[in-house]
Amino acid sequence: MIPAGGRAAETTSAALVPYIGRFAPSPTGPLHFGSLVAAVASYADARFAAGRWLLRIEDLDPPRDSREAAASFPTTLERYGFEWDGSILYQSTRDEAYADALAMLIRERQAFPCACTRSELSSAPIGDGGERIYPGTCRHGLPAGRDGRAWRARVDATTISFEDRIQGTITQQLDRDAGDFVVRRADGQWAYQLAVVVDDRDQHVTDTVRGADLLDSTPRQIWLQRQLADAPTARYAHVPLVVDARGDKLSKQTLAAALPMDAPERRLLEAWRFLGQREPDFSIGNVREFWTYATTLWDIARVPPAPHVGPDSVGQSARVDPL
Ligand code: GLU
Repeated sequence: MIPAGGRAAETTSAALVPYIGRFAPSPTGPLHFGSLVAAVASYADARFAAGRWLLRIEDLDPPRDSREAAASFPTTLERYGFEWDGSILYQSTRDEAYADALAMLIRERQAFPCACTRSELSSAPIGDGGERIYPGTCRHGLPAGRDGRAWRARVDATTISFEDRIQGTITQQLDRDAGDFVVRRADGQWAYQLAVVVDDRDQHVTDTVRGADLLDSTPRQIWLQRQLADAPTARYAHVPLVVDARGDKLSKQTLAAALPMDAPERRLLEAWRFLGQREPDFSIGNVREFWTYATTLWDIARVPPAPHVGPDSVGQSARVDPL
């Protein structure tokens, strides 16, 4: 991954171009300050462009997902004043669409069954996205006597380059930097990379604004978009990650504190500041006032690309996971 610095000038006239954005949290835990930063950026960007904004709950991973977390997302987002267009799309209802996409990849010889276990891959080098770069063992056929467990996309030496509206030019050579990646997992669950591309395609998403932890996935997703649809690549903006004082990413896995239900406008303003936006010169008393201000004055050029520390109160919750 080579961030080549420098951002492309924003040339699109928002009013002339249809804009469909989305927020797509996974219910592996409650929404936290990092989720809010991504949601605020994506919502403000969509509404500033007079666009639509969709809510998709990425409940793809039953072993890790929590029903309570999924149920809390709409309530929390409403409390924070987000208004999504249309109904919520749940990935758990999209089996057929993902199966069709996989069938298409298989037909085009862009996906192959893979028999390798995690331990068999443990000596492969780690790629940009933090996963092992597949050494190619099954890409030309399963070894004798072995059954396929997962399905992988067969990537080539294509170089994918895109202009991120916050992070600048991003380039990956897929075979070298990511490798043949899983589209259906060995446990039968659909992989995030496949599901996100199929859903963004079917929901006609034009603009993805999300956390920079997904920056490394984007070239794979652009590649998949090209295999699965002739649609032009969406525009991307990856917002800086919220880290704690030690530099660790705030995440559901690290028990980041759940967003509080009281005084949501305070947290919204903290997210706004985190995104480098202009401080209002009047006092914001409720979420409606916040959003009127934010959707008028959003300026993506002010968002700092690098990870930085969030406000004090957003770190670890006192919650202890049950054993
Ligand atoms: N579901 C992913 C997450 O919660 C985000 C997916 C996306 O925005 O593309 O991290």
